[in-house]
Amino acid sequence: MKQMSFLSLLFLSITSIINLSCKKDNNTDNGSGNTNTVPAVYLKIYGATSITSDGTFITIKTNGNPDHKSVYYPNGNALYETFSGTTFGGNTFTKNPNSIITQNYTFKIPLNPTVASTHAATPLGAMGVAVNGIPLYNQYAGPAQPLTNEVMSFDQYWGHPTATGRYHYHVEPLYLTTVKATKSSLMGFLLDGFPVYGPEENGAAVTNAMLDAYHGHTHATADYPNGIYHYHITNTDPYINGSGYYGTPGTVTQ
Ligand SMILES: [Zn+2]
Ligand SMILES: [Zn+2]
Repeated sequence: MKQMSFLSLLFLSITSIINLSCKKDNNTDNGSGNTNTVPAVYLKIYGATSITSDGTFITIKTNGNPDHKSVYYPNGNALYETFSGTTFGGNTFTKNPNSIITQNYTFKIPLNPTVASTHAATPLGAMGVAVNGIPLYNQYAGPAQPLTNEVMSFDQYWGHPTATGRYHYHVEPLYLTTVKATKSSLMGFLLDGFPVYGPEENGAAVTNAMLDAYHGHTHATADYPNGIYHYHITNTDPYINGSGYYGTPGTVTQ
């Protein structure tokens, strides 16, 4: 009897240790500490290396390498492909001197975006993230400078790298709208957490005249059946965003 109790106690102790170990493993989320459920719509950001939620913000990490071919990959890279001829806007393609370099982006966007009382201007550099993990840039080449001299350097999928190797899109991401998804698909999110959709809706092109000053409008979408404010990409300036964020932007580190 006494021996049985000892064995029972030993068994219970071992079971407790195993349970504790398992519980610890289940609650550890690769060290980020963010264990909240990520809503399914954010999992459409297939180019992310990780997506986590702390219940207030969604944190998206990407390496900034496009998942499509580009003349801007270093010659020898599997995704390098030569390109010449006509690019965005009917311009003759003129390669810029830069090459794609792997980056380390962390986009932190509000989980429940709301309209802001004052609409912050979008920055030069990343103002959002496309579903393939590539940053979205605004309609300027420099402070209040149009993209006139930049569009001719857009590659076969209408992106190009900065001098620091940061590949980005200022206009329609052609790979996403024509190969990976469609012209009416979810294209990504701006830093304020509001989604960005492609240049068509219900089979027709979206024009700037159909959108507000920030380049969006509100109605139900496939991903948000209850309706949501969303930006649209159009084929004329300002392309993705108008005069600032509709909501309050989160942050990006690079
Ligand atoms: Zn650019
Ligand atoms: Zn719409």
